[in-house]
Amino acid sequence: MGFLNKLFEKKRPTPLNNEKNHLKENSISRVTFGEATKILKFRKESEIRFQNQVIFLKTAIKESKYPSLNVFSMRKSKPTASFENLIVISGDKKNFRPMDNITSEEILQRVHPGKKMEDIWSDGVISDTADPGCVITDIGPFNNLRDEIKHALYSINEVLQEVKIEEKVATSIKCSNCGITLLVDTDVEIQYKSPMGSIDYIAERQRATDAVGVKCVLCNKGFCLACMKIYGKPHPQSGGLACLDCGGQLTQYRP
Ligand SMILES: [Zn+2]
Ligand SMILES: [Zn+2]
Repeated sequence: MGFLNKLFEKKRPTPLNNEKNHLKENSISRVTFGEATKILKFRKESEIRFQNQVIFLKTAIKESKYPSLNVFSMRKSKPTASFENLIVISGDKKNFRPMDNITSEEILQRVHPGKKMEDIWSDGVISDTADPGCVITDIGPFNNLRDEIKHALYSINEVLQEVKIEEKVATSIKCSNCGITLLVDTDVEIQYKSPMGSIDYIAERQRATDAVGVKCVLCNKGFCLACMKIYGKPHPQSGGLACLDCGGQLTQYRP
């Protein structure tokens, strides 16, 4: 497939230094994904509900309804981001204790007198951990959004609460540079077979292509295509690009 072959071809121009530094500063988000994460998604037309929800959460946090969880409000910072605003809640599974309806309603009436729960609702909640009695059958959409956050398509708007949480133990290999979960080139090729599609499809395909992995034959570290395009330097013998860590030769990532 074209995009992977390019990685190994000769005489690939390397980006200018100032361009590299600019991208490096903006390319990795500091948001940590703990054992469990919930993301509230808001579209552009839901700005007021987003702001209402933030005010609601601030009071709930102050009254210890979200102990030991990170809560960030985030705003779209790149045009390819799927949503306008996000609220990311992350931490240990045991700390996710949903508020009962009476408590929620009581807080709502104090911070937004006369408003209904609908006035603070998001356009959807996505999580990597099922609520009791539920099963998550497809983790794909969550991972896509997580990768958008990791690749800094959103910037942190407000830190509502920050605690030290452990980054979730990897079940698949991640890019050693930016932490994105690596995809297999042939999987991406099959999933996005069609060359044409909606703007969303094209953007999604671009994100998947950027997450395609390569692996170093010397140190075994994996890197995503997006990082290789930005930071890759030529490998003197192969004519392709060299490992970002040890300078070794690269090959396709296979889990
Ligand atoms: Zn990367
Ligand atoms: Zn290496």
